[in-house]
Amino acid sequence: MSDTIRRTGSCLCGGVQFSVRGPPLRIGLCHCKDCRKTSGSTYSAFAIWPREAFEKTGLVSSYGARSFCSTCGGRVAWVDDNEAEVMIGSLDVAPTDLVPEYELWTSRRETWLHALPGTEQFERDRPAANSTEVPARRSLSDVDAAA
Ligand SMILES: [Zn+2]
Ligand SMILES: [Zn+2]
Repeated sequence: MSDTIRRTGSCLCGGVQFSVRGPPLRIGLCHCKDCRKTSGSTYSAFAIWPREAFEKTGLVSSYGARSFCSTCGGRVAWVDDNEAEVMIGSLDVAPTDLVPEYELWTSRRETWLHALPGTEQFERDRPAANSTEVPARRSLSDVDAAA
């Protein structure tokens, strides 16, 4: 049963281990300023699970909702009250079976990257899918920077 799939991940040094249980809520790519700055790469590939599906062991430091290994600096997760966002590259098995469904902040995508076929494209943040979802939680600084 796909509901019982459990994926494991860790930071670079292995001091922090985590797992996510069941299928993710959504999978995306993001080119926003926050994703670029926090990774040092030009975009991030992430998957989001319900908060209760995420477990971790080990010591993390945090910056807002972001957490990372205190020793190696490897990303662990973005966790708020409802959701846990995990960088796909921090999962143990590669390649994964996780395929992005949408792409955010394409206005900041490097010119040598191309739209991922079959994905929804958003120039900036993804509009809230329904009234219960909080919009634009990921890139407040980008809103300022783009102004
Ligand atoms: Zn580490
Ligand atoms: Zn982003």
